[in-house]
Amino acid sequence: MKVLVINAGSSSLKYQLIDMQTEKAIAKGGCERIGIEGSFLKHKANGKEVTITRPMPDHKTAIELMLEALVNKEYGAISDMSEIDAVGHRVLHSGGDYDCSVLIDEEVKKVCLGNADLAPLHQRANIMGVDACKAVMPNVPMVATFDTAFHATMPEKAYIYGLPYEYYEKYKVRRYGAHGTSHRFVSQEAAKYLGVDPASFKVITCHLGNGSSISAVKNGKCYDTSMSFTPLGGVPMGTRTGDLDPAILEYLSDKTGMDIHELLFMCNKKAGVMGVSGVSSDFRDLRDAAASGNHRAQLALDIFTYACKKYVGAYAAAMGGTDCIVFTAGIGEHDHEVRASIVEDMEYMGVCIDQEKNAHPTDGICDITGKGSKVKVLIIPTNEELVIARDTAEIVSNL
Ligand code: ADP
Repeated sequence: MKVLVINAGSSSLKYQLIDMQTEKAIAKGGCERIGIEGSFLKHKANGKEVTITRPMPDHKTAIELMLEALVNKEYGAISDMSEIDAVGHRVLHSGGDYDCSVLIDEEVKKVCLGNADLAPLHQRANIMGVDACKAVMPNVPMVATFDTAFHATMPEKAYIYGLPYEYYEKYKVRRYGAHGTSHRFVSQEAAKYLGVDPASFKVITCHLGNGSSISAVKNGKCYDTSMSFTPLGGVPMGTRTGDLDPAILEYLSDKTGMDIHELLFMCNKKAGVMGVSGVSSDFRDLRDAAASGNHRAQLALDIFTYACKKYVGAYAAAMGGTDCIVFTAGIGEHDHEVRASIVEDMEYMGVCIDQEKNAHPTDGICDITGKGSKVKVLIIPTNEELVIARDTAEIVSNL
C-alpha cells in the first residue's frame, strides 16, 4: 500500500509518498508561495531533486503539479496515480471532538470547519488541502490525523484553566496542546525500544524544535502537555513567548500603543529566544553568538533550558515519577548542550546521562542514559508523516 501524506498550510503544501511495506518515503517535496507570485515546487524522488517554477493560484493547482511530479518518468516515484491507495491529511485541531484519526467525510469536514476559530489560519488551510485532493482524486479514501488528538486523554484538571467555567462551556476555552502526533510517536517508540508495556510506562517527551512542547505520557496516554489553548503557551520558543502573565499585554498596550492583534503578533513572531537574544531564532546561531561572548544569546539559551527543566520536573511530580525522558525534533535531536542542561542536577530524581554518548549520539534511536540512572534518557527522531501514514493505512484497510 502507498499512502500520500499531505500537510497543507495557507500558502504551502508539503507531501510525502510512503510505501507502507518498507515504511519509507519514496518521494517527498513541497509547494511554496501558493496563491502568490513566484510559486514553485521542490520534489525529491528516485535519487533526483527538481525545482519546478509554475504559477499555483490555488491548492488544487498545487496538488495537480505534485501529482504530475509523482508520476514523472524521470524524477517520479510511481507510474500511475492509481498507485496511491489513500491520502492522510495533517489537520491541526480536533477541538476535543476526536481523540484519534478519522476517515474524512462531509460530517468530519463540517466538524473541522466548526473548530476553525480555534486555529483560523491552519485549520482552513488544512481543509483546503482536503478539498483540493478530493477534486483531483475523488475516489481515493482520505484520513485526517489531528495534531491535538493525542492530548484528548488529559484529565480535566490538566486542561481546564482557572477562568470562569462558562468560557469552557460556551467557547471551548481549554488546554489543547499541539505536536500530539510527535509525542504519541516517540512515546510509543520509547516503550518499544525499551521492551516495556506502554500500559505501565511513564515518559516525559520533549519535542524541541522551532516550536517546542513537552508532554507527560502516563500508561500510553497523554496526561499533560505544555502547549496551551494555542501553540503560544509552554516553554519560550524560536519566536514565541511561551507562558506569559496576561497582565503584561495590557501594560505593554498602555506603554506602546499596540493593540491586542499587534501584541499577539509580537508574542508569536518576535519573542522567544529571538526576542531575548536579538540574534536569531535558530539555536545554531545562538550557540555561535554565545560562544563569541554574546550575553543575550547565552541568556536566551538559559531561559529555554530552564523552562524545559521546570516542565520536566513538574511532569515527574504530576505522574509520581517517570521511567523515561525522550528528546526529539530539531533541537532535541541535535543540540547536545540543550539536552545536558535540561537534565543537569537531576540525580535527585534518578536522572543522569552519559555525557560522552550525549555529545556523540548514534543515528536513529540513541540511549544516552548514564550509569546508575533509574530513568532512561533517549533521543528518538520524530516522524509525524509516518504516524499519519500508519493511521491512514489502518483505517483504510478496515473499510
Ligand atoms: P519545526 O518546529 O519548524 O519543525 P525543527 O524540529 O526542524 O523545527 O527544529 C528546527 C530548529 O532545530 C532550528 O531552528 C534549530 O534551532 C534547531 N537545530 C537544528 N539542527 C541543529 C543543530 N545541529 N544544532 C542545534 N540546533 C539545531
